[in-house]
Amino acid sequence: MCGIVGYIGDENASDIVIDGLKRLEYRGYDSAGIALCTKDGMMVRKKKGRIKNLEDMIAGENLYGHLAIGHTRWATHGAPSDANAHPHCDRSGKIAVVHNGIVENFMQLKEWLISEHGVEFHSETDTEVIAQLIGIFYHGDFEDAVFQAVEKMQGAYGLGVICADEPGKLIAVRKDSPLIVGLGEGCNFIASDIPAILKHVRKIYLIENNETVVLTASSVKIYNAERREVHREVFNVTWDADAAEKEGYDHFMLKEIHEQPKGIRN
Ligand code: GLU
Repeated sequence: MCGIVGYIGDENASDIVIDGLKRLEYRGYDSAGIALCTKDGMMVRKKKGRIKNLEDMIAGENLYGHLAIGHTRWATHGAPSDANAHPHCDRSGKIAVVHNGIVENFMQLKEWLISEHGVEFHSETDTEVIAQLIGIFYHGDFEDAVFQAVEKMQGAYGLGVICADEPGKLIAVRKDSPLIVGLGEGCNFIASDIPAILKHVRKIYLIENNETVVLTASSVKIYNAERREVHREVFNVTWDADAAEKEGYDHFMLKEIHEQPKGIRN
């Protein structure tokens, strides 16, 4: 399981998401990608290897939008490759998904999508099944399509989902894979880990299992599996971004070893 970052707000979402992905690099990964809602529709760029490869790929493009999701992948289904890198899209190209974890029943779902709906797949991943499933259930109600797809999935997943028809909405789902929401001023974030967004926000929601979150730039609503809205206390992060990073040490393990005396004193 690797990294997810998502942003909705006034600033350029691609810069914020790529910066967030870099802050999760220490977790290790084999490829990276981003999906951005632009005025010309959904734009997806993804590349095997370092985030730097992705940055080089998009360097000459003027990518601009206010909604984006990004991913660093640690392959479980399908080799590390450009095609298997996330985000994955449904067949209309309108829906893009990033995913941490494993869809255990992906083979049954894939066979059903092929035989019942004639879906063609473009990757070997379990994640593409999620995107295609949401696409099949999407008839104008984005939230409903995500809920229906999740009801069919077994396994572990942290998801970020966006839809070109709804550039003002970001949906996230959590089951047995970490997911947090960052609460900004006129902007909101999702991430698989706090350091990804700590530069921008201190107030977060810790998302629990089987919850779906619907974010706009000015609102965050959390729903349980029965689609009922649930209340969550805001968690204030008191430690700073530096504490979450390597502070000059070459490796996180070295940093942790050197932090132990202070940790015990604290
Ligand atoms: N199972 C997915 C894949 O192989 C997601 C892996 C991850 O968590 O990075 O693409």
